[in-house]
Amino acid sequence: MTIDTKKLLEIDRNTVFHASTHLKQYAQGEVGGRIITGAQGIRIQDSEGVELIDAFAGLYCVNIGYGRTEMAEAIYEQAKKLAYYHTYVGHTNEALIELSDRIIKMAPAGMSKVYYGMSGSDANETQLKLVWYYNNARGLPQKKKVISRDRGYHGSSIASGSMTGLPLFHAHFDLPLERIKHTIAPVYYRRPDDNMSELEFSRYCAAKLEEMILAEGPDTVAAMIGEPVLGTGGIVPPPEGYWTEIRKVLDKYDILLIADEVVCGFGRLGADFGSLYYDMKPDLMTVAKGLTSAYQPLSGVIVGEKVWSVLEQGTDQWGAIGHGYTYSGHPMGAASALCNLDIIEREGLVANARDVGAYLQQRMQDTFAEHPLVGESRGVGLLHALEFSSNKARREHFDPNLKVGPQIAAACLEQGLIARAMPHGDILGFAPPLVVTKGEVDDIVERTLRAVNKVTDKLVRSGEWNAK
Ligand code: PLP
Repeated sequence: MTIDTKKLLEIDRNTVFHASTHLKQYAQGEVGGRIITGAQGIRIQDSEGVELIDAFAGLYCVNIGYGRTEMAEAIYEQAKKLAYYHTYVGHTNEALIELSDRIIKMAPAGMSKVYYGMSGSDANETQLKLVWYYNNARGLPQKKKVISRDRGYHGSSIASGSMTGLPLFHAHFDLPLERIKHTIAPVYYRRPDDNMSELEFSRYCAAKLEEMILAEGPDTVAAMIGEPVLGTGGIVPPPEGYWTEIRKVLDKYDILLIADEVVCGFGRLGADFGSLYYDMKPDLMTVAKGLTSAYQPLSGVIVGEKVWSVLEQGTDQWGAIGHGYTYSGHPMGAASALCNLDIIEREGLVANARDVGAYLQQRMQDTFAEHPLVGESRGVGLLHALEFSSNKARREHFDPNLKVGPQIAAACLEQGLIARAMPHGDILGFAPPLVVTKGEVDDIVERTLRAVNKVTDKLVRSGEWNAK
């Protein structure tokens, strides 16, 4: 079948409300407009026959790669057998039972139950409700504030968008909600004093957190939420000792820790979960994306025993818990998650993320650490970021009007490569599917270098920048 791209895009511009898009520019045909028609492995194709290496796995989610017929078959078989039944009042299905048992066995010690949603945003929305219910059930109705971090990303609904720490997601939506506070982001590259070691900076972050807790009143703070590795805020691995220092402060004031594992969960760092990689010891965990590799929308809230026992007591007092979605525990989502976990296990994709991830980090470092346009090349596992700087030594930002990050992402596209211009700062993100090979990493690095050099030349030639 051939597709009339122009005609379809015209209908699209007239009818589709796109996520994270400049609405007017899109309607007028000034930005965007690509019809994705197929995908295989780490590559996607569009309706004009253009093939692109997807070095961001969609939105860091297609971990097993595209075009897995095995997944299509698992979903089809489940649809034929049982496409849907709800999970209210203890109704369940076989796929869901098997999946939950498997997740609890994989998860860090002490995890007890899984509640299911459809997206990372709704799962984090659930987290907030659970934390509030937990403290009501403990007779601590004033203990409700949740501390997130600047540059954290937890979704774009009302509560999850409030927990997100990026101004774009707050401004003009009357967010964040009052009960959500933001502490400093653990970005070592932006440490306040050049002489600080990583560990000293981690202690500084923990001290800032404690300062906030004391200022708010420890009896008003219920939980802290954080991604093991800051993702959408710039792909920033935590400095040495960060989560240990944070956990100490939270324990001191009876504050829960929610690990948002939407990106890190199921192998991206080369471990089953980011919480295990950094020994975070969370009380609650959020998972999505890599749970099904995005073949079906499915998210999970993994509840630790400590919180679970209180939730149970709450229902003794007040009756059935007033929380539930029509699609909670959807059998098609569960079937695709099971097949996805089978593939990850059978093909050793967590180990691949560790090995090829180490190779990716090394290749990026070797290629970009000394590049005049690159302030920092950083990452862990199969997550990497290049942060561009107008003055490498002084770590200065480019004038945002130059849009250096988006220019480089566009230059990557010309090289047949999708890398993501992160929404905060001039940062280019990489999160390829976990099936990526070392040869493909070489290809990604080489294409990126050509793109970065091209933009560097352009900035120099136009007089917009000179290397200092
Ligand atoms: N949490 C994290 C860490 C994420 O990266 C995202 C999405 O990128 C979300 C939550 C929100 O997930 P969703 O877009 O499925 O609502």
